[in-house]
Amino acid sequence: MYIHSIDNGNYLSVKEYLLSLRSPFGTSHSTSVTRKNAFVEIHFEGTSGFGEVGLPPKKDGCYYADYNDVEMFFKHFCDKFKTEYNSSRNQANIKIHDPFKSFPSPYFDGFKNRMSLAPSAPINILLLALFKALDSYDEPSAPPYAPASKCGIEMAMFDLYGKYYKEPLYNTINIPPPNNKVSFYTSALNSDISEMENSTRLGLKYTDCIKIKLNENVDNGIQIIKRLYHVYKQSRNYNSYWSVDANASWTPSSCLDFLFRLKSELPEFLPMLYMIEQPFPVDIVMSSQISNDILQSWSHVKDVYESEGILIFADESISTSAQVPLVSKFVHGVNVKLEKAGGIRGALLAILTAREYGLETWFGCMVSSKLSCTCSAHMLSLSSIGGDLDGELLVEDSSQLLSGGMEWTSDSGRNGYVYLSEENGIGLK
Ligand SMILES: [Mg+2]
Repeated sequence: MYIHSIDNGNYLSVKEYLLSLRSPFGTSHSTSVTRKNAFVEIHFEGTSGFGEVGLPPKKDGCYYADYNDVEMFFKHFCDKFKTEYNSSRNQANIKIHDPFKSFPSPYFDGFKNRMSLAPSAPINILLLALFKALDSYDEPSAPPYAPASKCGIEMAMFDLYGKYYKEPLYNTINIPPPNNKVSFYTSALNSDISEMENSTRLGLKYTDCIKIKLNENVDNGIQIIKRLYHVYKQSRNYNSYWSVDANASWTPSSCLDFLFRLKSELPEFLPMLYMIEQPFPVDIVMSSQISNDILQSWSHVKDVYESEGILIFADESISTSAQVPLVSKFVHGVNVKLEKAGGIRGALLAILTAREYGLETWFGCMVSSKLSCTCSAHMLSLSSIGGDLDGELLVEDSSQLLSGGMEWTSDSGRNGYVYLSEENGIGLK
């Protein structure tokens, strides 16, 4: 834990946030039963803003941070903040900084107005100094764990702002609440398929939409889908959206084989399959090791899936808005996550760029508590159909530090819609 005292009992802090998972969380690259996330608090004049950083096991090319990295970044950030805060309070020394310069109106309009109308209000001085310190890490020389670390700090800043000025985060961003958007539940990969069936039954209590984690073993993947689809049909007589996350473990030929097998062995499932997430390698657009032939094969995969009405999304291959144009010819959509994008503003930039390129959008989360999932839920209206904000269902109730936040609701007999109350900030206490 690290605490940076400001003045008058105000402080910034970061601490380990240990999560116990309901069942082992397996993907094509790792399996875990606990997670160590980071929990950030910014306490000012009796109000606390909270942030969380979901920290999956490190993976080259996409996941660069563990708790120690985040704490190290936080200490460095606090030093920068201290300098900015002291100079901001000395009006003669104030530096111009616009944290929202990349965003057209109406995004963050209310925030911009409050900052310009009352720049010397104590809360605004604090927030501006925090933004100045945070945005100084935008340069290319920032360490690779900077985006995840920034995400937790920025989340706490927006939460504090919303609680202080009494508005929910979606109002601060100036977007609608997430009406008519669904969240998927992730059935994580397990060598015992009956464990995946049990996990899917739990998810189906909250949502009709299931995301299945698979690895390179296509044959096993087909068996898993058959059994989980059977579980679904035991309780539903209608179709919904499902997705498959290969976590970078497939080749173009296994991707086509998977589709061929599904078409011949479980054709009734195809209309439910909304998308395949990250079938290709993480570095598909960055590596000189991947030949043009392979790249063309991935482009072909996209066309073949498109002809079946199934979308291909990128997850690990796109962190920030900068990668969206690079990956656009291989995908129909992108999975945006706060930790990858460096926070709320970074996620919004990625979404706006994806829209420019005609891509579908999706919000994902790391394995995390309700705090991080709810923060993303505030942005869900910007997605095409929703995302997978199921972190809170994957962890034990005893791991939730805060209460409140997003809820799962039904509409016209369908489950999985995300509901947010009009609580201020992110909405958890
Ligand atoms: Mg994914």
